[in-house]
Formats: sequence, structure tokens, C-alpha cells
Amino acid sequence: TTILGIETSCDETAAAVVRRHGNGRAEILANMVRSQFDEHKAFGGVVPEIAARSHVQYMDHIVAQALAEAQLSFADLDGIAATAGPGLIGGVLVGLTSAKAMAYAHGLPLLAINHLEGHALTPRLTDGLAFPYLLLLVSGGHSQFVLVKGVGQYERWGSTIDDALGEAFDKVAKMLDLGMPGGPLVEEWAQKGDPDRFSFPKPLLKEKRLDFSFSGLKTAVRLAAEKLAPLSDQDVADICASFQATILKILDNRCRLALARFEAEFPDQRPRFVVAGGVAANKAIGQLLKDLAIEYEAQMVVPPIKLCTDNGAMIAWAGIERFNLGERDGPDFQARPRWPLDSEDMALTEKGD
Ligand code: ATP
Ligand code: MG
Ligand code: FE
Repeated sequence: TTILGIETSCDETAAAVVRRHGNGRAEILANMVRSQFDEHKAFGGVVPEIAARSHVQYMDHIVAQALAEAQLSFADLDGIAATAGPGLIGGVLVGLTSAKAMAYAHGLPLLAINHLEGHALTPRLTDGLAFPYLLLLVSGGHSQFVLVKGVGQYERWGSTIDDALGEAFDKVAKMLDLGMPGGPLVEEWAQKGDPDRFSFPKPLLKEKRLDFSFSGLKTAVRLAAEKLAPLSDQDVADICASFQATILKILDNRCRLALARFEAEFPDQRPRFVVAGGVAANKAIGQLLKDLAIEYEAQMVVPPIKLCTDNGAMIAWAGIERFNLGERDGPDFQARPRWPLDSEDMALTEKGD
């Protein structure tokens, strides 16, 4: 099965070609990502209208590039998958509408993919991980624990009640004038700082439910920065290090709770634990999760950074999984700004024979 995947839900225009061989092995034949980073930089965040226009401008080009890299033409494809939500609606419309047009023009099936499902199934693309597994999804827009039971079968165990984790990194970077992209810069500064200099709050840690809250932490960081202003480089590094250390403690606590729940629900099985989303690119977080996996004797997958942040390969792969289970979407499929992983319509369509 060979599928073209298109991703336009935020600020990268991405197209990829992924093939699943008969023996189940997945191969990424092309994975092109064009970041709009420079177009949004001056505004300190992603401007939806600029994003949508830029997706329009580069869509044809990036698809042509992906096919050229894969040395394939449309005739070699089994289908076209595109992100249909959640995300900035203008961008999602560009990708989904382009995919519909290409599918129609070349007589190919369309797969409308939930962007979060793309992130959630990535460990199967990279490592062929079996179901069920516990997913920690931490990105710019989401922070949640999801039990992945099968394609289209997602149980949300907890999520953030305010900011997403990546968003918290981005906002801290903005407060400290570090520039964009926030997450990687905070991580870089944190390496030069003292993680014990500041003691920041860790909301919800006493709660047994698996939710996150990062807005109180963010406010505490802002107050600390305001109190010290003007900040020396050492102050900035110490704030970043203390902020990241607090995040690590929060994640450690929450992951232990989630792993214990997984063990309780699947007592006969070694836990499987994966992390996805852009924040998974953080090395300190990755190390924490690896240590936890060892402690819990869990099978752990951290996909390579390129497949953690937004990309077309994960959308193509989700398309392959759904295609192989008989899913097809029609040209009437609507783009959605909001689309939780555990919504009812994620389930596969019943196909009686
Ligand atoms: P979503 O997938 O929820 O729609 P998104 O597409 O913006 O959101 P991703 O592209 O998956 O999210 O991830 C981007 C986020 O990851 C940003 O918030 C960014 O700051 C964060 N991030 C990237 N690298 C790091 C890092 N090294 N440390 C911490 N955060 C990081
Ligand atoms: Mg992004
Ligand atoms: Fe994403």
C-alpha cells in the first residue's frame, strides 16, 4: 500500500509518501516539510491568515517534490490522505481541499485524517508497535494521556485543563525574549542554568485524575522574571532550568500514575509506553521517559524528532492503516477546527459483507 500524506494544520506545509510492504514493514519514500517559520517570526506566533495563504502558495510544489523524491507518479499511489482537523481551519481547508481535488483528478480514494491520530500512530510507523499502548501526546496544542487500543479506538485518560505543554514552553520563551521556536530555545538555555534556583508550583500533583495544568507555572515564571528584571543571562538560564525541572517533576508524577493504571488494566502484559508530539523532541523529557520505561519494564518508543513534530509521513501512515482496514472518505468530508481523538466518529465505519 502506498499513500501520499498531506499536512497543513499549523505552520508547516508537508507532503510525504509512505509505503507499507507485504511483510508489514513501513518505508518512508519521501517526507518533505516546508516550515513557515520565517513568515510568522516577526509576529511572535503563527498568524492564521498568513499560514493559510502560504499553504496555498506551496502546496503544489511540495506535493510534486514528494512524488519526485519517491520517484513515483499519482498512478503508483493507492490513495491520498490529508489532515482534516484539528488545527487552524484555513490551513486545514487548503490541505484537505487540495487532497480532494487530487484524489478526484486521479481517481484515487481519499482518507481524511485526524492530525492527532497521525501523532498517535507514529510509533507503529517507526517501530511497528502493537496495540494497546499508552500514549503521552505533548505538542503545541495538546497535552494528554491516551490509551491507544486500535486504529480509531482511543480512550482519553487525562488532558490539560489550561495550556498545552508546548504552549507553556513557547510562552516562557516569549516572556524571556528568547525568540522562536520557544521549546528548543528554553531547552538550550536550561542546559546552562541552575534547576534548583527557583521553586515553581506544580498544580494538580495531588490529584489522582490524570490531568495537567501549566498556567499557574507559567504565571510563576513571569512573576519571577518581572521581579528580577533586568535579567542577566544567568538569570534567564536559571529560570529556564528551573522551569524545565518543574515540568520534569510534573511529567514524572503523571506518567507514574498513568503507567500504574495501564498495569492495572492490562496485568498480563508488559506496559507499552510512547510519546508523540513536538515536545517529545526535548532531550531531558525523553531521558525521563526512558528512565521510567526501564523502571516499569515497559516497551518504550520515542520516534525521531522529524517524526515527532508535524509532518506528512504520519498522516500518510494513518491513511495506510485506515485504508487497509477498508476506510474511505468522501468528497463531502468537512474540515474541522476541533476534533478530539476520543470523539465517536474516530471509530472505523462498520463494513458488513
Ligand atoms: P498540535 O500537534 O497539538 O496541533 P503543533 O502542531 O503546533 O500542535 P507540534 O508541531 O507537534 O505541535 O510541536 C510543536 C511544539 O513543540 C511547540 O510548542 C514547540 O515549542 C514544542 N517543542 C519543540 N521542540 C521542543 C523542545 N526541544 N523542548 C520543548 N518543547 C519543544
Ligand atoms: Mg507545528
Ligand atoms: Fe502536531
